[in-house]
Amino acid sequence: MRDQKCPLCGHMAQFQFMPYGKDPKRFTCPTCHLFVISQVTEKLVVESPEKYRLSFSMASKNAERGQILHIIHKDKENTKEIMWQYEPEENWT
Ligand SMILES: [Zn+2]
Repeated sequence: MRDQKCPLCGHMAQFQFMPYGKDPKRFTCPTCHLFVISQVTEKLVVESPEKYRLSFSMASKNAERGQILHIIHKDKENTKEIMWQYEPEENWT
C-alpha cells in the first residue's frame, strides 16, 4: 500500500495498483472508504469542481457491504464525462 492524498476528499489515503497492471488504483480512504479509479480518470476528478468530488465521496461511502465504487470516464464529443457504478468488491481484490 502506498500513501497519497485522496483524489475525492483530499485526506491522506492509501492505494494499491491492481495486480494485473498499473491501472486502476484501489483506494482505501478513512473518509471515503473504498473505491477504484484509473489514473486518467483520477486526473479528471482532481480537476473537477469540489461538488463533484464530494458527490463521488458520498457515493463511495454509501456503497453497500460487498460493493465497491468504480469511477470511470467516457469521452463525449469534446468533453469527458465522469461516471461511477457499484461493482462487487470481490472483482477488485
Ligand atoms: Zn477520501
